Amino acid sequence: MSAPNPAKIKALVDALLPWFAREARDLPWRRTRDPYAIWVSEIMLQQTQVKTVIPYWERWMQALPTLEAAAAASSDQIHKLWEGLGYYTRVRNLQKAAQLIVERHSGRFPEAFDDILALPGIGRYTAGAISSIAFNQPAPILDGNVIRVLTRLYAIAENPKDKQTNDRLWRLAKSLVQQAANSPPRAPHPAPHASSLNQSLMELGALICTPRRPQCLLCPVQPHCEAARRQCPEDFPNLSDILPATAQQYMAFVVESRGEVLVRKRPEGGVNAHLWEFPNTRIYFRKVAPADMFRLVLPVAPKTLQPLAVVKHSITRYRITLTAYLATVTRRHPRMAGKWVRLDRLPKLAFTAAHKKLASAAAKSILSGE
Ligand code: SF4
Repeated sequence: MSAPNPAKIKALVDALLPWFAREARDLPWRRTRDPYAIWVSEIMLQQTQVKTVIPYWERWMQALPTLEAAAAASSDQIHKLWEGLGYYTRVRNLQKAAQLIVERHSGRFPEAFDDILALPGIGRYTAGAISSIAFNQPAPILDGNVIRVLTRLYAIAENPKDKQTNDRLWRLAKSLVQQAANSPPRAPHPAPHASSLNQSLMELGALICTPRRPQCLLCPVQPHCEAARRQCPEDFPNLSDILPATAQQYMAFVVESRGEVLVRKRPEGGVNAHLWEFPNTRIYFRKVAPADMFRLVLPVAPKTLQPLAVVKHSITRYRITLTAYLATVTRRHPRMAGKWVRLDRLPKLAFTAAHKKLASAAAKSILSGE
């Protein structure tokens, strides 16, 4: 495959750098060059929107301001700080990586790309983001936003997940960041160019070149954009293999006994591992009797059982409806696996997002005696 056209690469860089200097959002992690802080932001931003991440990042940096603090924190603390962000493997890998940096690099964040890439939870994109943003190295990045921008700029109709197309996109991203790194300093914005260029691609994808209704008229690279010229930006990228959303039903039980409720920790290795939840099960049939399901899950008969809440949420492509009941039992049977926790202790535990809502609904319902 031919190398990217140098004139177009230069034109794109010349348009993107001043645009980013002018339009970049003032995000808290953009006010620092601390690789630890930038790394935390990058891990949080995977699968999560900027506005959601900001308060999480601020809380995290306040509680664990250094890499050493993150390495030494308890599992409960890191999960509580991450509670609600989802994809909890991210936070466990982040801590493992912090511990490795303390052990192998005396607590100093490594600068070499391969050393960064070798850390748990850090793939090619994140290593490129940290290398470029924190250390201004000309390492390319390619995430959903950048893929969208590049496939539109070059009208790339093939699926970006195909190996050849993916390689081509990485090559384009590399050409852009290298061109930026070799550009002379630009007054009045002598900012590090590799860092700015990569961030400009992400920013353009987030603010202007959005999945639906991109704002081509405001776009700094519109004169060089093939999809805009053809007036079909939304045709790119080709995501034809995306699986359709699938509905799933779950039933959960908040069991109360003597002012305490029964909670369980999700097991190692599964989705949301180490987070707390109420006993629950997936429902495969449209009509099931809650009392029967209770016996299946706990497994004893409930003394009382009443509807508590219905919570809808999504995990990846799954649209989940969680129907919850508030229950009491005649006694705490040893077969009821889990831990009994006082209602006022519930906010201290890291719950999955859906079960956190159940915890609030249960506390409200039990305390009001309804
Ligand atoms: Fe995206 Fe439109 Fe800009 Fe092209 S011109 S990069 S389609 S916003």
